[in-house]
Amino acid sequence: MHRITLARRPQGMPVPEDFALEADDMPVPGDGEVLVAVTHLSLDPYMRGRMDDVKSYAPSVGLGEVMTGQGVGRVLASNSKGFAEGDLVTGITGWSSHAVLKAGELRKLDEALPPSTALGVLGMPGFTAWAGLNSFADLKAGETLVVGAATGPVGSMVGQIAKARGLRTIAIAGGPEKCALARDTFGFDAAIDHRAHQDARSLRAAITEAAPDGVDVYWENVGGKLLHATLPLMNVHGRIVVCGTIAWYGGVDTGGPDHLPAVWRQVLVKRLRVSGMIIFDHWADFPAFLAEMTPKVAKGEIAYLEDVAQGLENAPAAFIAMLQGGNTGKQIVAL
Ligand code: NDP
Repeated sequence: MHRITLARRPQGMPVPEDFALEADDMPVPGDGEVLVAVTHLSLDPYMRGRMDDVKSYAPSVGLGEVMTGQGVGRVLASNSKGFAEGDLVTGITGWSSHAVLKAGELRKLDEALPPSTALGVLGMPGFTAWAGLNSFADLKAGETLVVGAATGPVGSMVGQIAKARGLRTIAIAGGPEKCALARDTFGFDAAIDHRAHQDARSLRAAITEAAPDGVDVYWENVGGKLLHATLPLMNVHGRIVVCGTIAWYGGVDTGGPDHLPAVWRQVLVKRLRVSGMIIFDHWADFPAFLAEMTPKVAKGEIAYLEDVAQGLENAPAAFIAMLQGGNTGKQIVAL
C-alpha cells in the first residue's frame, strides 16, 4: 500500500517537498474493523490549515503522519457484521491507497450514483453550502447573493440553491472559462472574473454593475480582494456567511494598511449579521441534506463539476494547484 505523509510544515503556499510518498505493508483489520481499498480521494482547501502546527477547530497533521482526507472505496476485508467485501463506502481514509477504519467510521454509499459524488456535490462541500445557507443566510426571493470560488463544490451549490429560492446570483471566479461555466452550467445571473481586476476598487465597480440593488448575502469563500470589494456594497441588514478565506491560506501579508476600523464600521452602519460556520456543527442534518439533494442530483436538477487527477502520487501537485485556482470543479484524485 501507498500513502502520502506530511514531510515538513509549509511556509506559505505548499510545495511538493512538503509531502512524501511512502510504501508500507497492507494493514490488517482488527475486530470490528474494515479494510478499504480507496478508489477516490477528496482534496479540500481545509487541508492546508491542517498542515500548520496551530490550534484550530481540528487537530493538525503531525510530521510524518498521513495527510488527512476523505476517501471513497471498496471493502476488501471486513471484521464487522455491518460491512461485506465489495461494499462501496466512504470515510476518513487519509491520502492512502488502503485504510483500516472502525465500522462506525464508515458510511455505505448508494451504488446508483457515481462514487465521487460522495466527496463533492453530495458530500461535505455540498452539505456545507446547504447547511450554511439554511442556518445563517436567511435567503429571500428578490435579494442578491455574491459568492467567490463559484465553480467549486461549495460555491456552485451556494449559487444553485440561492437561484432556486429566487435570488439574483453573482459568481466571482478565476478566468473567462470558469465565468462561462458559472453562467451556463450553474445558472448564475452574472459572473465576474476576479483575475481581470487588479485591485478591489476595480472588482467593486464590476460587482456594482452586476448588483445594481446592492448585495444582501455575501457567501465568503475567499477573503482578500473579494471581501474588500464586496463589503462596502452590502445592504442594510445584509448577511455574511464566513465559510473560508482561501486567498489567505498561503500566508497573509500583515504589513498592509489596517482595514479593521472600516470593516467594523460597515458591520455597524449596515447592521450586518456575520456568521462564522464550520460544517462540524451541522452533521446531525446530513441525512436531511441527502434526502433533499440526492434526487435532485440524480435527476440533473443540480449540476456539478469534478476535476479528477490520476494516481495518488499526483495528489500533492493537484492540491497545490487547487489552492491557486488550478481546479475546475471538485478536486478528486482517482487511485
Ligand atoms: P474550490 O474547489 O472552489 O477550490 C478553491 C478555489 O478557490 C479555487 O479553484 C479558486 O477558484 C479559488 N481561489 C483560490 N485562491 C483565490 C484567490 N486568491 N482569490 C480568489 N479565488 C481564489 O474549494 P471548495 O468549494 O471546496 O471550498 C471553497 C471554500 O469553502 C474554501 O475557502 C474552503 O476552505 C471553504 N470550506 C469551508 C468549510 C467550513 O466548514 N467552513 C467546509 C468546506 C469548505 P477561482 O479560480 O474561481 O478563483
